[in-house]
Amino acid sequence: MRLIFLGPPGAGKGTQARMLAAEHGIPQIATGDMLREALAQKTPLGLEAKAYMDRGALVPDEVVIGLVAERFGRPDALSGFLLDGFPRTVAQAEALDRLLKEREIGIDRVIFFEVSEGELLRRLTGRRVCRGCGALYHMVSSPPGTAGRCDRCGGELYQRDDDNEATVRGRLSVYRTQTVPLLDYYRGRNLLVSVAGEGPMNDIARSIRQAVAAARGR
Ligand code: AMP
Repeated sequence: MRLIFLGPPGAGKGTQARMLAAEHGIPQIATGDMLREALAQKTPLGLEAKAYMDRGALVPDEVVIGLVAERFGRPDALSGFLLDGFPRTVAQAEALDRLLKEREIGIDRVIFFEVSEGELLRRLTGRRVCRGCGALYHMVSSPPGTAGRCDRCGGELYQRDDDNEATVRGRLSVYRTQTVPLLDYYRGRNLLVSVAGEGPMNDIARSIRQAVAAARGR
């Protein structure tokens, strides 16, 4: 199973990707998480990416493509993968096509998460992340049992630097100009399926499973 989750920041890609990847036993390859890890470890790549991430801009294509190419080389990606937050530009999609071609494999489905802009703002500005295990919370709609602490691992919850309102508005604008063209890119290849990304989480998960099952049956 080789999938791409496409959609604006705050659409719920990470939450759903985590569940689906675990269900299928495939790695979730989330470039945002990989960049934040590199930054936490203060690697040269992480430090280079920081300035872009802090202001809500995209990290240069060649940096992100390099990360994904390296990740594809690991054995766990052989049986399949779920790309979450990559590709985000047409140049990245073209580079991905080349990487897949070298391996003589293809993408089964691109799942597009449809969410209104007002809802994205609400979700992103209220989002909190566990420093320990990466679990996601929302201050209002899914708060932890104990304020500031992760229900799963007890880790500290924090707000991402780029989840403040000004940066979120910038990220949404970057999404519209740089990532939206990918919808046509994958629609033209007959891979795109839209899923309503608003409503109960289980309903969203069910729509995604249906889209994935349809891809398997092709
Ligand atoms: P995310 O966690 O997916 O919201 O990504 C957080 C930030 O990491 C983005 O705002 C970008 O600065 C950077 N980033 C993540 N994925 C990519 C990508 N595919 N291309 C460029 N920048 C990325």
